Amino acid sequence: MLRRPLALAILTTAALVAAPAGPAGASAPPPASPVAVGFGGAVATVDADATRTGIEVLRAGGNAVDAAVAAAATLGVTEPFSSGIGGGGFFVFYDARSHTVHTIDGREMAPASMDVNAFVNPATGQPYAFQEARVSGISVGVPGSPATWAAALHRWGTISFRQALQPAIRTAQRGFLVDATFNSQVAGNRDAFGQFSSTSALYLPGGQPPAVGSTFRNPDLARTYQLLAREGVGALYHGPLAGDIADTVQHPPLSPTPIGTWAFPIRPGGMTTADVARYQARFPAPTHSRYRGLDVYGMPTPSSGGTAVGEALNILENFDLRAMTRTQAEHHYLEASALAFADRNRYVGDGTPRAVLDELLSDRFAKQRACLIDPTKALPKPVDPGPLDLSGSCPTGTAAAAGSTEQSTTNLTVVDRWGNVVEYTLTIEQTGGNAMVVPGRGFLLNNELTDFNFTPTQGSAPDPNLPAPFKRPRSSMSPTILLKNGKPLLATGSPGGATIITTVLQILMNRLDLGMSLPDAIAYPRASQRNSPTTQVEPAFLALPEAAGLTALGHVLAVNTTAPEIGAATGVEFLRGGELLAAAEPVRRGGGSAAVVKPAR
Ligand code: GLU
Repeated sequence: MLRRPLALAILTTAALVAAPAGPAGASAPPPASPVAVGFGGAVATVDADATRTGIEVLRAGGNAVDAAVAAAATLGVTEPFSSGIGGGGFFVFYDARSHTVHTIDGREMAPASMDVNAFVNPATGQPYAFQEARVSGISVGVPGSPATWAAALHRWGTISFRQALQPAIRTAQRGFLVDATFNSQVAGNRDAFGQFSSTSALYLPGGQPPAVGSTFRNPDLARTYQLLAREGVGALYHGPLAGDIADTVQHPPLSPTPIGTWAFPIRPGGMTTADVARYQARFPAPTHSRYRGLDVYGMPTPSSGGTAVGEALNILENFDLRAMTRTQAEHHYLEASALAFADRNRYVGDGTPRAVLDELLSDRFAKQRACLIDPTKALPKPVDPGPLDLSGSCPTGTAAAAGSTEQSTTNLTVVDRWGNVVEYTLTIEQTGGNAMVVPGRGFLLNNELTDFNFTPTQGSAPDPNLPAPFKRPRSSMSPTILLKNGKPLLATGSPGGATIITTVLQILMNRLDLGMSLPDAIAYPRASQRNSPTTQVEPAFLALPEAAGLTALGHVLAVNTTAPEIGAATGVEFLRGGELLAAAEPVRRGGGSAAVVKPAR
């Protein structure tokens, strides 16, 4: 336990809410730098307000868990389309006192009424179109983020839930300046948000997205956070908020005067207050593997992040990437990623036995998978999953693919002066979740249950990710902490749906094998191979010298023109002598914000 009663005294509400006020009473826009070096603690998020909140909590004596929860609550205000109390996530924590890594599974949970055909239209027998499933009550899982925050503070924090929510309450009350990202995320959701009276009243005042540079306030959310601060997280799971969530799911708050058009019927879901009351955060042991002498910790099921990143690294460990050309190293990275995705799709879902996860992370399994990689040509995709009963041979074949690649979700990294580390990825699934603001409460609901497979994907083999009552949908979120000789070296994570796995993997390869600094590794153009015939790349990747080499090896590189960016990641690296390097995305999603408690220069 990391209880530090001293911090309770130091971390007064006044200390937490002190922030410069702008002309309209809103917080002045804090300077957002994507890189910071120094001592005493570090925070990296996608948002300057959230990073500043985290740094203030650290400065006031809080630890990394306190700062991570306060920053996450602030992101629920300033990044409401990517995260918030209507969603879920995965929290990985390195405890400097015990030198151990712990996790919280705060993934959303399906209600009792969810069955295997939940996403199949009974009238046609066909799966719903994705947007039809998304903007519905059916897609909403019981939120896990509030339980995650409360559990993290209870187990490892030094401040109360009430204290941790104060900066976010203040931000929601005072308001913050709307940036281009906020504006464009509303604009991109105008037709979906416009169907609901609660959502259009909050985010489409006068029928338009809030203007860039205007001050945005969310008094309903401030009051919701105040209720949680006063009564604890039970107000959500066992109190009035549970009723409001279930009511919104069962009776979507349709607007009598919709803005824009929506092509699909908006279907209710079956979540009840009993479902909400049943929710509990879980505390699974992290996944663990070794990569070039480092210990790699990640998130087990229902996330596939820990096993997929770990397996792909294990495959890459069979090769000397440093001795290769950039093209060959990238080729091996893409192939390892495809193989790991085939195995993830076949074996990983909520409830996959730990023995299977261990097998996926074993060096023997990785060796068998590594021998499929041909340095002279790309494997035809999709590749088959590997057999878990290892024959030692090199099987070949083809199978099914993919996973959503939306750019929702948000990631944060926090380190404190004691060396505790939090790597936390949280989401409401799509940007804008299921598009329904809970009336009077100021937060959006998630559509996380669309992360289930709508129909079986594994042929005659069982699909581990089909919907079921109380099940949690498979995730790709990959908050990852690396230790060297038992001490933290690096923590990183990213948004981006299924591309999260490849973004984390590519950052680790760039940093550990290809000699880049952490900021360069995060900034580098991304390529994402998820066991499909094409490899998704960012436009800038096509201009790299290795692009032609990869194409010559048979990789089909393609930009997703509707969502060209992949993964606004964050990370912190421990440099020599206790110095910290905090790095956030420099450009993607408008650029992130990294800060340290005591800048080095
Ligand atoms: N729902 C996705 C997952 O859990 C994350 C959504 C996103 O990053 O866009 O893998």
